[in-house]
Amino acid sequence: GIEVQSLSKSFGSSEVLKKISFSIPKGETTILLGASGAGKSTLLRMLNLLEIPDTGTMDIAGMSFQFHGKADTQLKQQACSLRKKVGMVFQQYNLWPHMTVLQNLIEAPVVQGAPKEQAIDQAHELLERMGLADKAEAWPSSLSGGQQQRVAIARALMLSPEILLFDEPTAALDPAITNQVVNIIRELSDSGITIVVVTHEVEFAKKVASRVIYLEDGHIVEDGPASHFSQPETAAFKSFLEH
Ligand code: ATP
Ligand code: MG
Repeated sequence: GIEVQSLSKSFGSSEVLKKISFSIPKGETTILLGASGAGKSTLLRMLNLLEIPDTGTMDIAGMSFQFHGKADTQLKQQACSLRKKVGMVFQQYNLWPHMTVLQNLIEAPVVQGAPKEQAIDQAHELLERMGLADKAEAWPSSLSGGQQQRVAIARALMLSPEILLFDEPTAALDPAITNQVVNIIRELSDSGITIVVVTHEVEFAKKVASRVIYLEDGHIVEDGPASHFSQPETAAFKSFLEH
């Protein structure tokens, strides 16, 4: 699971996250919602230490962090260990363009010392699961947006993460392809992975969420089970859902 206490982050003089606290039980799929600039991506990036909080504490995937400003050497090492357990999939897939699909998948595990043959077998299994069995030797640029997104998900799964973070996974996809992502997220959730998804798309959110967190101006305004979509607790979240 994930437990965050009083996490703050500023960029220059602007405080983007203001003493945020929340907890996400293992196995839940949590949707992070909020207007543009609310701090969603910043919060998500903190969960795998792509962004270092200024202050606060974070317990995630069995590791504990206390922040006090600077990223020291020890924190950098811990961030590497954390990222093996907390995977991330971005809106713009970030596949390596000069590598085939298969090479994209096996790169990280092999660099981390996994036997190459084993990584290749696992990659083929994951590609099969993503409906991409015939794309192992394809170049990323030859794939559709939805296919690239599924390769990016498969690549994140190569490290068998406990937690998977998605930032706007459907933003670049048309609605039919979005449903494939819905199915994949549901399947991952059934397999026990804890999932956090940032999205603008409320309809997509409702289809996958077991919990929802609504951010406004660096504060958590609403936090609860997916039933909050039909019964918002706050006027602010209600109004967000209506617009
Ligand atoms: P969107 O829905 O548009 O993606 P968001 O909720 O993900 O928005 P963030 O990307 O977390 O918002 O940004 C929150 C605020 O922090 C914004 O005002 C943004 O300009 C600022 N910000 C984010 N990253 C940086 C950075 N590296 N340097 C300076 N300011 C930043
Ligand atoms: Mg964002």
